Amino acid sequence: MTSQDGRVHDARELLSTRPDSVREGNKRRVIRAVMAQPSTQVQIAKRTHLSQGTVSGVVQELEADNVFRVDGSDGERGKRISIGSVRGVAVGVEVGHDRLTVAVRCVDSEETLDSTVNFGATQGMDAWRRECVLMIRDLVARTGLSTEHVVSIGLGIPAAIDPRSGEISQVASSLDWDLQGNPMQWFEESFPKVPVIPDNECNFAAFGEHLYGHGRDRETLLFVKSSAGIGAGLIIAGAITRGRHGLAGEIGHLTMDPRGDVCRCGSRGCLETLVGGARLVEQVRIAYTGHRVNLPNNLENLINRAKTGNKVCRTVLKIAADNIGLALARVCNIINPELVVIGGELGQAGDLVVVPASETFQQNALEGMFKHVSPTEVKLSELGMLAGPLGALAFALQVDRQPS
Ligand SMILES: [Zn+2]
Repeated sequence: MTSQDGRVHDARELLSTRPDSVREGNKRRVIRAVMAQPSTQVQIAKRTHLSQGTVSGVVQELEADNVFRVDGSDGERGKRISIGSVRGVAVGVEVGHDRLTVAVRCVDSEETLDSTVNFGATQGMDAWRRECVLMIRDLVARTGLSTEHVVSIGLGIPAAIDPRSGEISQVASSLDWDLQGNPMQWFEESFPKVPVIPDNECNFAAFGEHLYGHGRDRETLLFVKSSAGIGAGLIIAGAITRGRHGLAGEIGHLTMDPRGDVCRCGSRGCLETLVGGARLVEQVRIAYTGHRVNLPNNLENLINRAKTGNKVCRTVLKIAADNIGLALARVCNIINPELVVIGGELGQAGDLVVVPASETFQQNALEGMFKHVSPTEVKLSELGMLAGPLGALAFALQVDRQPS
């Protein structure tokens, strides 16, 4: 969109971090918040932790410059602020075990383009990174902009990231993945001067659901992502909670049975040994031992069979859901969230998983969580498989950081 004087602002220029006044810093904070999500002044003040007076001043100035568009006549505070004549594109990436998703969105638009390949961390870092660069270039080209307009890349990876240094403190789900070095520098050559903001992919999924999904207007949220492995992201007081080493939310390694099977983390009886995707497929194979049947070869396939009525696949999902529900009770007794969201591939099973997980959770968690006027709920992710990439995209937009 072009402003009245024909000027189109460059998003990178608007967001570039310079040593300057508090006022300029506040302005960037407000622009970033609106780029992540068009909002009212009240919502922007809440999300940026700035006073309403400060936000109001910034909005007036930026509206006059056509950086912001202000719509609606529902009183000054009810008006919706969105991005006006600004050219820029934001990127969100989710690297899974064997799945890579990229989402891009122009900063002045609410329309997201995304693409997914069945290719991920298990294929090795050089391979997935090369694929990822191609996917970003392709999607950005489809917006009509070029990679020079990319303002930030949010990068969700299956690893714990030290929130102070940005370095990997542990590769969360499989110790032989070659995720190494500092993720902030992984895309330096392909996208010079573009800040890369890395985080655990479950943290970004929780953030995405908090901003755009069922977590809207909720302060406390636990997002459980169950696919090949299982992990969780935690939102407390509206912010991602990471812990000192980025390991907060590792629900997959919660001990469910101290005498259980050995887990990839080296411990025993972790939740992941009970509900990991490969484990569920294995359970179906064991059930049919000695019988000539077509076996599901992956979790997606297993879920599709359960949906069409296969009783073995349904029972396997029900047991997995019960185990997740029990784990949720233990975690929620400690953090007491308003909402639990189930996502990842297992979330594609819908009620087949969410209903039993919710029932087992209620049976085992403290009853005060459910007697209150707004009880803790368990819901299926509203954003589905895009929770992570959209959360990555939005979170990276909000971070005021110089490219490395
Ligand atoms: Zn484990």
